[in-house]
Amino acid sequence: MDRTVIVQLKPTPEQATILKRTLAEHTACFNAVAKIGFETGEGNGVELHKQTYYDLRRRYPDLPAQLVIAARVKATEAVVSALTWAKKHEASYHKRVVKWQKQGKDILPFKPVKAPQTHSCPIRYDARSYWVNWNHMTASLATIGGRLEIAMSASRQAQQYIGHRVCSADLCYRQGRFWLHVVVSIPVPVVEPDPTVIGVDLGETRPAVTSSLHFLGQRRWKAQERRIFRLRRKLQSKGTKSAKRHLRKLSGKLFRQRRDHDHVLSKRLVQHTPAGGTIVLENLREIRSRGERRGKAARRRFHTWSFAQLAGFIAYKAEQRGIAVFRIDPRTTSQRCSRCGHVARNNRRSQSLFLCRKCSYCLNADLNAAKNIREKYLTSLASVGTPSLVGSQSSCLSSPPSGEGQASSFSLEVT
Ligand SMILES: [Zn+2]
Repeated sequence: MDRTVIVQLKPTPEQATILKRTLAEHTACFNAVAKIGFETGEGNGVELHKQTYYDLRRRYPDLPAQLVIAARVKATEAVVSALTWAKKHEASYHKRVVKWQKQGKDILPFKPVKAPQTHSCPIRYDARSYWVNWNHMTASLATIGGRLEIAMSASRQAQQYIGHRVCSADLCYRQGRFWLHVVVSIPVPVVEPDPTVIGVDLGETRPAVTSSLHFLGQRRWKAQERRIFRLRRKLQSKGTKSAKRHLRKLSGKLFRQRRDHDHVLSKRLVQHTPAGGTIVLENLREIRSRGERRGKAARRRFHTWSFAQLAGFIAYKAEQRGIAVFRIDPRTTSQRCSRCGHVARNNRRSQSLFLCRKCSYCLNADLNAAKNIREKYLTSLASVGTPSLVGSQSSCLSSPPSGEGQASSFSLEVT
């Protein structure tokens, strides 16, 4: 499995100048290719290479050929996604115009999608253009001044991945510092499969409740996030210059706070699951895309928001302990009685209380949902036999084999 280690580069002043110029020339190459690709509608890497490579080599003779190619590869990706987006954007504009006309509203002008351009494009190094010496803590990078050997330092958090085989690396420049995001490949742990299956209900009041009777996360998170959310809404309606400045700060704060909460929650969840076991989550993305149960979805907005992030954190933390993660369609999991199976909307008497109309089973509503989620997974598993799901890393965060819920891939960026 791959993990990303972020190390800070400590270049000498001369090295820093060379790095900056290398980044600038690489960015110029990226922008040039992206502009040509977007304007001509060309999303084929080979074609773009033919059209731009020799010209760029002439314009930036010091930039190593590998980096010119790296810039073109990145630009091609950006062009393809920009072209796709432009197509979608245009189609949706026509739909919106029809809607505006129906509602008698003013028709806003069409804002075309622009070619992808950037101030600073990180350089993607590969095995041929860089290497890392973990013993001496140095990195050797291809630059406009030839190969440079640069000292580096890793945070305590990153230390655990040091020494493993390195794959690619991204060179970034942020706020006066150079960072190298090194992707390392670490061995997948060999873990005996464990039959334990844990259903997890994600909510707002109780961030996570497991079918094994654990209430994880803090209740105060909700209040914290809500406070920032409200303040943000207030500032947004103001729209003054200082309000905007304040907003930028605040959105960063909300982002960091939520990331912190998601890290804590995912860690606890994985700690409460035996190695080799299985975690079953609800597929909260489904709810949003289906547009049903709007009331509930709205109540959960603070969590659904970061569901992709939380699910990603759970997946990579689970992987290290050989735990498989699955998602199921959450429909009726909050209305069904986990003892007798009776489904009724009014089984749930309040936010926290579940009382079955049929068998009078009474328990915490989130706990009941967690038990149903576990149950639903086991049922879907039984209906297709018992394939060897546990411990297979590629199956992490896939849907159950019955095909309930859409399997979607999360990018598991670990920072
Ligand atoms: Zn019941």
